[in-house]
Amino acid sequence: MQDIKLRTFIFFVLILFLSFIASKIFSLNIAITFLILALIIYLISHIFWINELSKWLDNPKSNEIPDGRGIWQDIFSKIYKNYRFENKSKKDLATAMEKFVEAADALLDGVVSLNESNEIIWCNKRAQLMFGINVRKDTNKPILHIFRNSEFKKYLDEGNYESTIQVDTENYINHIEVKVIPFGRYQKLLTARDISPILKNELVRKEFVSNFTHELKTPLTVITGFIETLDQPKNNLSPGTKEIFTLMSDQANRMKDLINDLLLLSNIEASLNKNRSEKIYIGRLFDSIKASSSKLNKKKHKIKFNIDKNLNIYGSKSEIQSAFSNLVSNAIRYTPEKGNILITWHLINNLPIMEVTDNGVGIPKNKINRITERFYRVDEDRSRSSGGTGLGLSIVKNIMLQHQGQLEITSELNHGSTFKLIFPEDRIIKPL
Ligand code: ADP
Repeated sequence: MQDIKLRTFIFFVLILFLSFIASKIFSLNIAITFLILALIIYLISHIFWINELSKWLDNPKSNEIPDGRGIWQDIFSKIYKNYRFENKSKKDLATAMEKFVEAADALLDGVVSLNESNEIIWCNKRAQLMFGINVRKDTNKPILHIFRNSEFKKYLDEGNYESTIQVDTENYINHIEVKVIPFGRYQKLLTARDISPILKNELVRKEFVSNFTHELKTPLTVITGFIETLDQPKNNLSPGTKEIFTLMSDQANRMKDLINDLLLLSNIEASLNKNRSEKIYIGRLFDSIKASSSKLNKKKHKIKFNIDKNLNIYGSKSEIQSAFSNLVSNAIRYTPEKGNILITWHLINNLPIMEVTDNGVGIPKNKINRITERFYRVDEDRSRSSGGTGLGLSIVKNIMLQHQGQLEITSELNHGSTFKLIFPEDRIIKPL
């Protein structure tokens, strides 16, 4: 810039000087004419180069940039340099973008970038297969118009993206686990993982357990039958042999309980679509739980029931009975002599809740979230000696899942525990 100003200044000084010389050698008129002519030529040359520049800007191609003369040569060379730099940056950016898209397409997970209104901005190839997206037609369209699934809609609308959800699709990939990661101000990254192989393995495992336990049932019935037949007073068994038979009978019964629990668990898991809408009259159900708990209560516990008998629900009668009895039997088993057990059934915030509170052994805080796992026991010996199979709470948890409810556990070691079964509002039978 400084250079242009200086060169323009020198040009004007030179013309004025030449005009001055002309006025001295020739006349003032000739000098003025010379000055005007020089200025007109100067102006025309600028107009010419401005015109060239404007033509080039209409269609800027690097090889057609004008050469320019004088200060215009400088201007054109600067423009050309900037143009080349920008072009290179664009190319670099495009290459980086291409590489990014290639890498994203190679991912095994589906990735969709969504804007504030959940419209698709971009997605990788895997996501197209998972959500059934046609990039050409569906870009800038709301994902919920393309992938219609009520659970997915709820997850996206609720905005609680800490957790993931599993969704079944009718697209090329059938079972996916979806997670939303918010980024930028309002944008979201939707990621999806194919969980079909995991679910398939799970199914194979469940089928194996179910078939295996089923197969074990018959031989075990035969064995227990024989033990009972042999262990009769008329057979005059010696005390040593009698002890062996008692031990065999106890172990066979433990195995029977285990098999029955395993079969119950696999039946609950397998009957995903079972109609769980029988009318359950709570009064009757708790009468039978009361009867069985007093039979179980060998440790002289004070067992108190606080039941809202008008609060009836829809569900699977046998499963609900099994879940309630499990919690009551656990409270009895894991509470030392003369403990207090309170069983309540009531409505809290419009949700039907069954609560079992005991002042028993309690559960260490770091183990609470593990006790619903199959065969997980806080204390192996205590569980076995009290006749536990280690499957009770996983049965309860599964039953609650199938009833769209949940199991909540709070406990303090050596002080006691509270187990809550929370049912959804729509399971309540509305009084007529
Ligand atoms: P188990 O047949 O061993 O009782 P469960 O699945 O019913 O199996 O329970 C799992 C574990 O949770 C038990 O082994 C026990 O350690 C713990 N547990 C369950 N209920 C209670 C309770 N009311 N108080 C203390 N611990 C409990």
